[in-house]
Amino acid sequence: MKLDVNVLRYLSKDDFRVLTAVEMGMRNHEIVPCELIDRIARLKHGGTYKVLKNLLKHKLVHHDASKYDGFRLTYLGYDFLAIKTLVNRGVFNGVGRQLGVGKESDIFEVIKEDGTVLAMKLHRLGRVSFRAVKAKRDYLRHRRSYNWLYLSRLAALKEFAFMKALEEHGFPVPQAVDCNRHCVIMSLVPGYPLVQVKELQNPDVVFETILGAVIRLAEYGLIHCDFNEFNIMIDDDEKVTIIDFPQMVSVSHPNAQMYFDRDVECIYKFFAKRYNMSFEENENDSDGLEVEMEEVGRPQFSEINKNSGFLDKELAASGFTKNDQQELEKLIEGELEEHSDFDDEGTGDEDDEVDINDTNVKQLESLHLEKEDENRQVVDENDDNSQAVDDHD
Ligand code: ADP
Ligand code: MG
Repeated sequence: MKLDVNVLRYLSKDDFRVLTAVEMGMRNHEIVPCELIDRIARLKHGGTYKVLKNLLKHKLVHHDASKYDGFRLTYLGYDFLAIKTLVNRGVFNGVGRQLGVGKESDIFEVIKEDGTVLAMKLHRLGRVSFRAVKAKRDYLRHRRSYNWLYLSRLAALKEFAFMKALEEHGFPVPQAVDCNRHCVIMSLVPGYPLVQVKELQNPDVVFETILGAVIRLAEYGLIHCDFNEFNIMIDDDEKVTIIDFPQMVSVSHPNAQMYFDRDVECIYKFFAKRYNMSFEENENDSDGLEVEMEEVGRPQFSEINKNSGFLDKELAASGFTKNDQQELEKLIEGELEEHSDFDDEGTGDEDDEVDINDTNVKQLESLHLEKEDENRQVVDENDDNSQAVDDHD
């Protein structure tokens, strides 16, 4: 997605005031009525309407007059609110080139006043569509809880908290710098994703480091769940950095074994194929019996899981509370049954109160856990139900 930050320069105080008013209105409106935006923004002499026109021109809001005259934020509008907040905080003061387009994010360089370059990850859960989420969307259309921007914000919060906790425990991850709305600022990782690295000087050392990290993660109670050559960065000295954490789950997840084995298998397969490492050949043991290396070689989840501890204290300290963590665990477990009852949900009482956090956290988990689904479809930008957040600093 194009991020023309030059537009930022042309936006006035009033522009941001109205943009923030739209964001606030989206707490309980999918499309915020013009009168409400005007009431929140409190600009004189019908100024709000003129400003809305300008925001629309720059694609920061989307106009919808199908039911009533109203607006909602676009991702770009949300990006600008986050960027503006972070610039005001002095976290950085310039946006540079795009570093990557992830499955559910855009990554840019940002530059601090002293010239230091950092990485900015903008989460975009609306980009990828899954069957499950589509079904949910129809069901939750009228609910404030159904909220794409809120989901992106939750993903960013989770990623930031996990990155910080992992860093504090000496895992090779980027340094977590700051977080606002759907945006995470972290240190720039030198090098490239492993998928782009054709040759390694010491593939066995890199392999051991990576596998060691997966095992140590599990010992701490966590599984990455998307551990592959796209989420492992490697620099010229073959130093490894692990990225991309919003989909991580606890070892107490009912599918933990499967996710762990899948992460491990991914690494074995990639190293065998790309760097011709061999894990599969048979060896003779001391009795001359053939031992299947594949059988005995893989780290065993059941062994690791016995002694694993949790990172919840550290996660609480970085803004992702113990409650959040417990709730996530509970919801991930409930997730399994969930897939079977989509058909029934549409007939439910539309006025039921839904716990906002519950529903959204559940959706977040279900989104990420299906990340590997090959049949993903791109959602139309206009169809992403962009919604609200609650910090307006
Ligand atoms: P997604 O969740 O969308 O897959 P990732 O966090 O994996 O997003 O990032 C996508 C790509 O952006 C990565 O493959 C990498 O090339 C680049 N990238 C992400 N974070 C950083 C970083 N801190 N420093 C440098 N490049 C990064
Ligand atoms: Mg990734």
